[in-house]
Amino acid sequence: MFTVPPFATVACWITLEHFDGSFLNMARAMYEMGFLQFLAQFGPSPSPPLQVVGGYAVWVLFQAALYTILPGKSKGQLTPAGNLLEYWTNGLLALVCTIILASGLHFYKVVDLGLVAENWEGLLVTFNMYGLALTVVAFLKAHYAPSHSADRKFSGSMMYDILMGIELNPRFSTNWDWKLFHNGRPGIIGWVLINASFTIAQYRRFGHVTNSIIIVDILQALYIVDFFVNESWYTRTIDIALDHFGFYLAWGSGAFLPTMYTLQAQYLSRHDVQLPSAVAALVLAVGLGGYALFRSVNEQKDLARRTKGDCKIWGKKPNFKRCTFTTTDGQKHESLLLLSGWWGLARHANYTGDLLISYAMCAACGMGNFLPWTYAVIMTSVLVHRCYRDEQSCRAKYGTQWDEYCAQVPWRLVPGVW
Ligand code: NDP
Repeated sequence: MFTVPPFATVACWITLEHFDGSFLNMARAMYEMGFLQFLAQFGPSPSPPLQVVGGYAVWVLFQAALYTILPGKSKGQLTPAGNLLEYWTNGLLALVCTIILASGLHFYKVVDLGLVAENWEGLLVTFNMYGLALTVVAFLKAHYAPSHSADRKFSGSMMYDILMGIELNPRFSTNWDWKLFHNGRPGIIGWVLINASFTIAQYRRFGHVTNSIIIVDILQALYIVDFFVNESWYTRTIDIALDHFGFYLAWGSGAFLPTMYTLQAQYLSRHDVQLPSAVAALVLAVGLGGYALFRSVNEQKDLARRTKGDCKIWGKKPNFKRCTFTTTDGQKHESLLLLSGWWGLARHANYTGDLLISYAMCAACGMGNFLPWTYAVIMTSVLVHRCYRDEQSCRAKYGTQWDEYCAQVPWRLVPGVW
């Protein structure tokens, strides 16, 4: 985990930069030359230009300033130690401010947005260095200056603690949450600007913008805006409510997200893929359908939880299972597991929607190379793994009540299949 994923971010860049997007040719060269010589010849320079590092530092500090000053608060979910924390959920405002400012700077020729794509090699190394540095700082903070000691998790293995994190909610003072900030701000807001930059790069290279990159931009922008419109919901998802802050999230949001989630735009900036209109319409429809499913499933759970089941789902009073669980402070709490709507059909139908969006984003790039499809492989692995992870923790939280729920809703992603 500490070596393969960072190398994967580098390998994708090498494949695009030197092998015209062909993994096969890249792998052949690596095999023939040997790993170290291959890296020495094709790898990115390990010391990125100072302007690139400086530019990235300004970007992170700017996002930190927006996170600190803009209004917007909401309560998260009860932590295992019984803490109910407040979060600054001002991401939508931060996104709007960033887009207005970036467009203004680009339009008045103060900062060229195309610079992101032009300096991708240096940024790739900077993202990785930042993600790794953040992992180390998070590990040290968890030991020497924890925010909520009772919510720390020690596995007994230092490597595992570095990988999956110790602190659940590392913070500066009471409310400045490291995890919400890093997951959302430099990474996800950055995603919009990175896509915009590679779209500009495509236009500069080919003299036009293809329908394929427009579809990718639309689907990813929709996903991102949705994330920030529903940022308060995000504080009740696994990332925030369950995952501790280690390499997985720190390096993941710092380096993996900006490099791997933007692969389609990177690829299309170098490949002139123009889809036939019918194919483009189909791909867009699958993506939008996936989004509608993803949103509807998440809404149903949020509604049922918010109203404690006193609501309507698909026009009817929902069925649900009342469950109890105990936090580590010994307090008993009540929760509900929905058995109606999408949640009565499959236990993770939101992941199914997410996968449909991901496959549509990849399909927009055509079948010329496997590289842009890497995203589909990543999302499938992440979400299938997440099904197991989530169910393991639900089992630990609800005990046999969870087994009873699973017996009533036996399917995970697609009813009748899995
Ligand atoms: P969910 O939003 O599905 O949350 C899972 C939690 O919901 C469980 O731990 C449990 O928590 C509760 N729950 C489980 N079953 C029920 C039920 N029947 N009724 C009510 N509550 C239930 O999952 P995630 O947090 O993983 O994902 C949130 C979204 O983010 C998803 O739509 C996913 O697709 C997306 N995502 C996107 C990623 C990306 O990189 N693009 C990566 C990961 C996720 P509790 O303890 O509260 O009972």
